[in-house]
Amino acid sequence: MSYVRLVNVTKRFGDVTAVDNLNYEIGKGECFSMLGPSGCGKTTTLRMVAGFEDLSDGEVWVGDRLLSSPKKNHYVPPEKRNFGMVFQAFAVWPHLSVYENVAFPLRIRKLDEKEIDQRTMDALKATNLVKAKDESPDFLSGGGKQRVALARALAINPDVMLLDEPLSSLDPHLREEMRFEIKDLQQKYGFSIIYVTHDQSEAMALSDRILVMKLGVVQQIDTPLNIYNNPANKFVFSFIGLSNFLSVKNDGSLVLPNHEGNIPQSFTLPERLVGEADLSLASRPSEIDFTTMEDPEGLHGVVTRKAFLGEIVDYQIKIGDQFMRVQKSRRDKGPEPGENCALHLLRPFWYAENE
Ligand code: ATP
Repeated sequence: MSYVRLVNVTKRFGDVTAVDNLNYEIGKGECFSMLGPSGCGKTTTLRMVAGFEDLSDGEVWVGDRLLSSPKKNHYVPPEKRNFGMVFQAFAVWPHLSVYENVAFPLRIRKLDEKEIDQRTMDALKATNLVKAKDESPDFLSGGGKQRVALARALAINPDVMLLDEPLSSLDPHLREEMRFEIKDLQQKYGFSIIYVTHDQSEAMALSDRILVMKLGVVQQIDTPLNIYNNPANKFVFSFIGLSNFLSVKNDGSLVLPNHEGNIPQSFTLPERLVGEADLSLASRPSEIDFTTMEDPEGLHGVVTRKAFLGEIVDYQIKIGDQFMRVQKSRRDKGPEPGENCALHLLRPFWYAENE
């Protein structure tokens, strides 16, 4: 059942349309990520949901409560939206103790002292900050500061948590740990999350569903698994996972530029691309097997690089004058740099070159 609902949400800054006719619905307790490159409109969307930014058009709803609608001249200010917010920069106040940082929004809401104490202590317990409650956040690590920001957002018992790149200032190890902490808190408190990030692995690890955005326009909304397995277009393919493409010419038959070998017989184009002259052939690096040079399904190339990455081995294969990446388990025996090889693409994806 939908809980947060964006209907035809549009934001224009002068000539720039930062968010273009955005529609989505989020369920109660769902973790929903907005993923896309810098400047695609993620933060602007989150600010509109939070109430910090006016909409140029459209509506934002939570449950049956309308929050923003320029047409209806309706606007609920941020402090009346009951949203928790955590942003990239550690927005904690060094002149207040950890306890007072967390209690602050409750004081603004003029709750009585007993309730403030109870909610503050609950949030501090949930984020493992009880021991540090009387210290200045300045004495905490980056992870600690971000926990204070999370605790402060939790204390208001939010319906929705808006998180804008909340982990990007942390080192990789801590980032991973905090992902689990956020997920645990969500399960305990039951709030919905809108999570903004340009980090695909973060979005994949945390989200029930992901929205992929490009230049203010939605490209795909689906579960992490479906987005990975069935990317809607070339942009989504390359944004979720490695960009792994070969340019292919199509003049009735398929030709790889400057490539001596044959194109495997089983390569057939999807109906929508049959008349397209310039194509991209894509494959997930993990969905390519090495096969024998005699295999008619083999795409011939030469190994130009082999990198040991721990659990996986990453190969760069030169095919004509282009490159593909192949990733295999370290337990598989694969070819060595300089050797000829043949690739079997288990699940090829086809796109128009300029899609
Ligand atoms: P990042 O990850 O870098 O924050 P983003 O995906 O969150 O990127 P936005 O910050 O939402 O993207 O920006 C979307 C577009 O809107 C960009 O072209 C940006 O320059 C423009 N923009 C954002 N805020 C303003 C503003 N206050 N005035 C004018 N243009 C703006």
